[in-house]
Amino acid sequence: VAKERGGARVQCFDAALRTRLLERISIAHDLRDCELRGELRVQYQPFFSTNGRALVGVEALVRWDHPTRGLVSPGEFIPVAEETGFIVPIGTWVLEESLRQLRCWLDELGDQDGFSIAVNLSSLQLQSPGIVTLVEEMLRRHRIPPHLLALELTESMVMNDAETSSGTLYQLRDLGVALAIDDFGTGYSSLAYLRQLPVNLLKIDRSFIDAMTDSARDRRVVAVISSLGHELGMKTIAEGIETEMQLELLRGMRCDLVQGFHLMRPSSPEVITEQLALAHQHQMQA
Ligand code: C2E
Ligand code: MG
Ligand code: MG
Ligand code: MG
Repeated sequence: VAKERGGARVQCFDAALRTRLLERISIAHDLRDCELRGELRVQYQPFFSTNGRALVGVEALVRWDHPTRGLVSPGEFIPVAEETGFIVPIGTWVLEESLRQLRCWLDELGDQDGFSIAVNLSSLQLQSPGIVTLVEEMLRRHRIPPHLLALELTESMVMNDAETSSGTLYQLRDLGVALAIDDFGTGYSSLAYLRQLPVNLLKIDRSFIDAMTDSARDRRVVAVISSLGHELGMKTIAEGIETEMQLELLRGMRCDLVQGFHLMRPSSPEVITEQLALAHQHQMQA
């Protein structure tokens, strides 16, 4: 009986695996040239100064508006896009669209002091030849001061191909763009190496922020990461803030910036435009 049951479980597992595999193949098939068909969208999630809650910038988060599936989240298609290499044209499209949008915001509202945009870069993009020239050319074409663009790289991505990526990172830094390490704390960082990297911003991973509320130990971990960032001359940003209490705790830790559903969800460009207009009004009144 046990054997039979075991067999059934294996079969069941196989079926689930098979379904997932077919799903991925179907996604991979539909993903090709999606940027050319106009199926990609960008939502923007603001980040704020921890103290004044000033709107400091937004992170660009891609969505795929699939003809039959509807809006697909990046968690579902970015991994497939990375496996197939489609992430390169997709990423280029996201960068282009984000810079175009930032130019619109700067034009509409007057160059708001330092309002910046963060764009996620995947490892294949960082490794693709000509990435530095591409970024430089786009910034020039959209007349974006380089320091208003931050590129987010994950910790594992930077650490894994340390040798190959560091040259590119220095070239990007020389352009004047800011570099951020995303999901910090989830990978392995060599502190010696982290010290040498031209990184401006450390993004503390959401899992730490999550754990912080219930555990004093996790609160200390976040405090230590935040001061580590400061020691290395970086600014720190906490992602995934869902409660007022987390915000309070981060204030006490002198974490510079905050981002999360509690403050604002990823939103359409129109909603961000309204937020910017409001912030602008407040500035004028002050
Ligand atoms: P990420 O860069 O770490 O982005 C943060 C993710 O956390 C976003 O999910 C955001 O919606 C979500 N988030 C923000 N605040 C909260 C919160 O308070 N609570 C919770 N539970 N979640 C929160 P999203 O948009 O689904 O993106 C997931 C990941 O996909 C991103 O993680 C990023 O790694 C990747 N991604 C998104 N857009 C791009 C892109 O244009 N290019 C590349 N290469 N990757 C992208
Ligand atoms: Mg990110
Ligand atoms: Mg992140
Ligand atoms: Mg994350």
